[in-house]
Amino acid sequence: MIRIAIQAKGRLNEDSVELLREAGITFEDSKRKLLAKSDDFPIEILYLRDDDIPQAVAMGVADIGIVGLNEVEEKAQEIDVVHKLGFGKCRISIAIPKAEEYNGVEALAGKRIATSYPVILKKFLDEKNVDAEIHEIAGSVEIAPAVGMADAIFDIVSSGGTLITNGLKEVEKVMYSEAVLVANKGLSEECKNILNQLLFRIESVERSRGMKYVLMNLPESKVEEVISILPALKSPTILPLTQKGWCALHVVINEKELWGKIEQLKTIGAEDILVLALEKMIL
Ligand code: ATP
Ligand code: MG
Repeated sequence: MIRIAIQAKGRLNEDSVELLREAGITFEDSKRKLLAKSDDFPIEILYLRDDDIPQAVAMGVADIGIVGLNEVEEKAQEIDVVHKLGFGKCRISIAIPKAEEYNGVEALAGKRIATSYPVILKKFLDEKNVDAEIHEIAGSVEIAPAVGMADAIFDIVSSGGTLITNGLKEVEKVMYSEAVLVANKGLSEECKNILNQLLFRIESVERSRGMKYVLMNLPESKVEEVISILPALKSPTILPLTQKGWCALHVVINEKELWGKIEQLKTIGAEDILVLALEKMIL
């Protein structure tokens, strides 16, 4: 049995739950229970605040967890980052009032910077040799300059809309973050095995994202030409049709390339092209 800590509610909750469900794991959501057990995979889901996940994993209260890289850095706990998950993307930036001039980090010397990420900010300021005052506040960081609590802020930015609304401009992008899978450093052999099974499933889910399964009929004489323009896991599958001189070809194509390839396939002579969703890609 392995125990995974995920965010109980908030921006990472939904994607974390969806990832585990896509990996074929069923369990109850956080509205019903704070500790849920799956009955089809040896895993327990512990729902926590994201701030508490790095410590819970470091202490072994949970064996593994899903949390933002920003929280991993901030909490500076001894844990392993095992896998990047590609959701919850954001950056943590320094922002100052729009009207103020800015010509480099030195401009921050002697300023008061409000943040919920004092550890990451201190590390950045020390690296840049800038002496500024760090004001730790738990929330509503972006209004601190307007109400005279600070001269600048260091906070999460995704689209930048919140900054604009609050009359601020982003001047230093300090760190990029996304959700990551973290693990306790002393996992038992049993837990390591379960973690590997979970990673195998997650990677299969990720690999199939944006991929389509494409089937088409084409004259046998065109097979070589069609193969030359198609990507394939190994080589495409070709099946004979009852109609003489024709065959069916199956191939996996990235959605981004799909329409371009379909145009080319039709020009070569492919017919009856079917595009299907691909759920899992297990190699
Ligand atoms: P909790 O109640 O669990 O402490 P929270 O309020 O601290 O939640 P959320 O706002 O739910 O946190 O954000 C969780 C994580 O989502 C952040 O730490 C960050 O990694 C990521 N994230 C991605 N985009 C954004 C964004 N635009 N604003 C805030 N967090 C974001
Ligand atoms: Mg939090």
